[in-house]
Amino acid sequence: MADNKNDKNKKESQVTEITPQSEDFSRWYLDVVRRAELSDYTEVKGCMVIRPYGYAIWELIQQGLDKRFKATGHVNAYFPLFIPASLLMKEKEHVEGFAPQVAWVTKGGDEELAEPLVVRPTSEAIIGTLYSKWIKSWRDLPVLINQWANVVRWEKVTRPFLRTTEFLWQEGHTAHETAEGAQEETLKILALYKEFAENELAMPVVDGQKSESEKFAGASKTYSIEALMGDGRALQAGTSHNLGQNFAKAFEIQFQGRDKTVQHAWTTSWGVSTRLIGGVIMTHGDDSGLILPPRVAPYQVVIVPIPRGNWQETVLPKAKELQQALVAQGVRVMLDDRDAYTPGWKFAEWELRGVPVRMEVGPKDIEKSEVVLARRDTRQKSSIPMAGLTEHVVGLLDEIQKALYDRALAFRKEHTTSASTYEEFKTAMEGRPGFVIASWCGSEECEAQIKADTQATVRNIPFGSESVPGECVKCGKPSTLQPWFAKSY
Ligand SMILES: [Zn+2]
Repeated sequence: MADNKNDKNKKESQVTEITPQSEDFSRWYLDVVRRAELSDYTEVKGCMVIRPYGYAIWELIQQGLDKRFKATGHVNAYFPLFIPASLLMKEKEHVEGFAPQVAWVTKGGDEELAEPLVVRPTSEAIIGTLYSKWIKSWRDLPVLINQWANVVRWEKVTRPFLRTTEFLWQEGHTAHETAEGAQEETLKILALYKEFAENELAMPVVDGQKSESEKFAGASKTYSIEALMGDGRALQAGTSHNLGQNFAKAFEIQFQGRDKTVQHAWTTSWGVSTRLIGGVIMTHGDDSGLILPPRVAPYQVVIVPIPRGNWQETVLPKAKELQQALVAQGVRVMLDDRDAYTPGWKFAEWELRGVPVRMEVGPKDIEKSEVVLARRDTRQKSSIPMAGLTEHVVGLLDEIQKALYDRALAFRKEHTTSASTYEEFKTAMEGRPGFVIASWCGSEECEAQIKADTQATVRNIPFGSESVPGECVKCGKPSTLQPWFAKSY
């Protein structure tokens, strides 16, 4: 018994051990990832294990996106992990962009391979090769395929979910008859990503076009959604690329057009990854740990029975009944009836793991036919009658989802400033900066100098900000572009 009690005390102190955000945001992030049991490390540097609780979040993200891809006419397929080196070399800019990050396979068993293989860093090369076989006529277009897969990019500095050597993602690859068709697809997916990030992850994003230097290797145009994290750094949360005819020319994706001439297809690619989990953590979390938006919370409600008297005969059956009623309405519920842990320990534990609503049920609550509900986001506690409880909880989850979005949007507004002089710009970028909106002449030279001086990069040029007359914040020359700058992950 004594041992058991010591063990409990030890665990109680463990759950509170998270570095405060204000002290060290990066340490806070790693603490949350580990304590909330989202991810763990292995012997392989830069590769992460996604633990069941983290994977459950990923599954909800996958389901939400997959539904949207299919509703817009896309289908799923699977392509190989290994790509012959010669295929990757076909698109010049593409190979230059990815070569430093490629993992090679040179041996199979004891035998040296005649041609080395690369582990896919992305699948344009292999998919382009297949499309050149599958697409013959304008009647074969459009091709709208998505793949859920892992990819490998040899990273020097890694951080769970944000930058890892192997990660999970989806990559869409489409081929179209016309330039307009490809551009329409590129923007359609960008809008889909924005809607998903804002409605499901409660994460406000800025959508716009990347600068030349930040675009995808081999693309004509890259668009992104960018979110602002709690430390004032931006996170690129999704990208959509219009590849023009670049890949179609490199991989000979040709078709006979309506006018019988042979033409190159117009292609796109687009992706989001497990990085979104990092975005959720850093958008909503606080010093007590994770705060999950209800729509991607593996458990939306945790029921903690208060163990008084013969609680297993009185409180527990009531708790199970409440759980079943909620599950019947589609609510994801964890009933934490473990008797090796105190209610206080469980409160801290589920708070740390970001469960949106905690429901406490004890003998006194049952006498009054009530439960206590505690919100993770505001920490408000209130007694709610058991009659109509399910409807109340469903409504409360929606309210929390919205409140998290509103809070994140207010944070972004507070941390977005405009700068008209370079001094203003540099001052704004110090400390915990956020987004800075400033005019830019479009030259790579000014962009590079701004980055060297402040670490800030052009995150994107939001729609509507491509033709705002002004003077470049760096060189003072006339400009039309008004990008959003930030330090980024
Ligand atoms: Zn300039």
